[in-house]
Amino acid sequence: MKRAILLGPQGSGKSTQSQLMADTLGVKKISSSGLLRQLIAEGGDLGKKIDKIMDEGSLIPDKLMIDLFFEELKKPEYKEGFLLDGFPRNLAQAKALDKEHQIDRVFNLEISDELAIERISGRRVCKNRHVFHIKYNPSRKVGICDLCDSQLLQRDDDVPGAVSKRLEIYRETTSKLLDYYKEQDKLVVFDGSGSIKEVSDMIVDYLTEHAG
Ligand SMILES: [Zn+2]
Repeated sequence: MKRAILLGPQGSGKSTQSQLMADTLGVKKISSSGLLRQLIAEGGDLGKKIDKIMDEGSLIPDKLMIDLFFEELKKPEYKEGFLLDGFPRNLAQAKALDKEHQIDRVFNLEISDELAIERISGRRVCKNRHVFHIKYNPSRKVGICDLCDSQLLQRDDDVPGAVSKRLEIYRETTSKLLDYYKEQDKLVVFDGSGSIKEVSDMIVDYLTEHAG
C-alpha cells in the first residue's frame, strides 16, 4: 500500500488529510500544487513557463504534468513509496503513470456537492491570507480578522456559482478515473463529510488495519 493516490473534490479536506495519510503510510507526499509552486519559486525556465500558464488561468498540459511527476519520482526519497495528491487528474495521466509506476491503492475522499459548496463558499479570507469559515471557524467579530483586524472577504473563486462550475468539471473528469481504478480493484472510498478529527481517525484506522 506504499504507492498511493489520493483523490477528492475541493472542500473534501484532501490537503488536510494527505499529510496525515502520508505519515501513516510512512511515505512522502507529492502534491501537484506544491510541486508547481516549488518549480516557480526555483525560477528556472520550466518554472517561468509554468508561472505563465497559471497566470493565464490555463491548465498545465498533460504531457508537462506527467514529465514533472516522473522527474520528481526519480528522487531517492520516493523509492519506498509515495502519496500523490492532485495527480493523476484525468485518465490520460493515469494511464501514463501506470506505464512507469505500479500503484497499490487509490483513496477517494468523497463528499456531496452540497457540502463542498457549503464548506468553500463559507470561507472568508483577510488580505494577510488568514482563513476563517462563517460556520465552522467564525471570527469573533463578523467580517473582521481575529489575527490582524483586517476585513474578511469572500474570494471570487469561492462564490457558490464558481464552486459548482469547478465541481462539475471535476466530477466529469474524475468519474472516468474512478471507474478506471475500480476496474483494477484499487479504489478505496472514504466518507469525508465528518469533522477533520473524525475523518482522520477513520483514515488512520483503515491504514493501520490494512498495513503491510
Ligand atoms: Zn488577518
